[in-house]
Amino acid sequence: MTEAMVLMRFPAGFLSLSHRPVSPISEEEGAHTGEDNATAPRRAAEARRVLLDRICDFFEQHDLPVTAANLATICGGLSGSHQELAQAFAAREIAGEPIDQRWLDTLARLDPDSQSRIAELDGLMDKLEYALLRFAQTARSAQTETSDHRGAIGAQLELMAAPDDLAQVLDLSRAMLARIEQVEMAMARSEAETASLRENLAKARMEADVDHLTGLPNRRAFERRLQSAAMEARSKGEPLSLAFCDLDHFKAINDRHGHEAGDRVLCALANSLIEYAGDRFFVARHGGEEFVVLFYGLTKDAARQRLDLLRLAQSGRQLINRETGQPFGKITFSGGVAEVTEDADTRSALARADAALYRAKEEGRNRVMVA
Ligand code: GH3
Ligand code: MG
Ligand code: MG
Repeated sequence: MTEAMVLMRFPAGFLSLSHRPVSPISEEEGAHTGEDNATAPRRAAEARRVLLDRICDFFEQHDLPVTAANLATICGGLSGSHQELAQAFAAREIAGEPIDQRWLDTLARLDPDSQSRIAELDGLMDKLEYALLRFAQTARSAQTETSDHRGAIGAQLELMAAPDDLAQVLDLSRAMLARIEQVEMAMARSEAETASLRENLAKARMEADVDHLTGLPNRRAFERRLQSAAMEARSKGEPLSLAFCDLDHFKAINDRHGHEAGDRVLCALANSLIEYAGDRFFVARHGGEEFVVLFYGLTKDAARQRLDLLRLAQSGRQLINRETGQPFGKITFSGGVAEVTEDADTRSALARADAALYRAKEEGRNRVMVA
């Protein structure tokens, strides 16, 4: 296939190269050409059908599983709605490299939209936390104030003689005191409620950072840690490296032993990683059967050596399926290491580590490669 033909198949990639700011498959296409009302919907329906056919062909051609994530990525690339995806598809085909599940996962990982969504959510959480804190402070100071008022009125009442003409004033004042007491109690309740809301929010925040299967930090937590660790390493002038670790032929484990057994294997590897990392390194589950490690203070070669020791130990272990007594066989992983501090953009370190992992897979798996 020629380069021009490839670019035609990925419209946004093509458009971005030719700088034409119009979506190639648009509901409004007919409107600009003066077509009648009946033609425009027909053309839109036709465009939809063409897009659906192309998506189906794409799945078949690349033998990809039909998952929601794959559909979103492929639809983004083929419809022209996501320019970067379309360009990535086009570049991949031009380079003659395979479009497979691993690579699609990489695309999802590099998706800048997901990064900005995470940042947006974090921003909202910060705002909510701050609003709750402010509310708690206001409630507390209002409570102190009403309490002071109550004290002052109470003292005033004590001092007052009680001739008959003041009886009404006294009644009113007592009623006021009772009302202030009620307000005070309501304030105290709302302070307790805000405190519990803040606690729930802190808990939700923590849970949002944990992978529920393995108990490891998740990708979201990792990305935040990566940013802060990179900043710290740069300010100290120390190296920082990261590694992707992906289980080899994990699909076969699921196929042979079932998904639940697969889950237990993932937990076993997570435990090995936790033990291995201690508090020297940061380990997270990046997604699926892929883990990521941050090596504080290590160059990529030192990190590769460390990870290789774990890989060797892991490949020598024999795991048994405790439900059936069947051995799982050798559970190995491949790794790709990159030095984060080699350039200013942490995302390019992720891409380099991923490329190294890809090479480790291509060169036979159960090995660690450096970017
Ligand atoms: P490779 O060596 O190329 O990495 O092969 P692979 O089979 O490990 O990779 P592939 O990407 O083809 O398949 C990954 C499999 O991991 C498919 C998916 O069902 C499985 N998987 C992802 N997440 C989980 C999970 O949480 N639990 C279980 N049991 N399986 C999972
Ligand atoms: Mg994988
Ligand atoms: Mg794998």
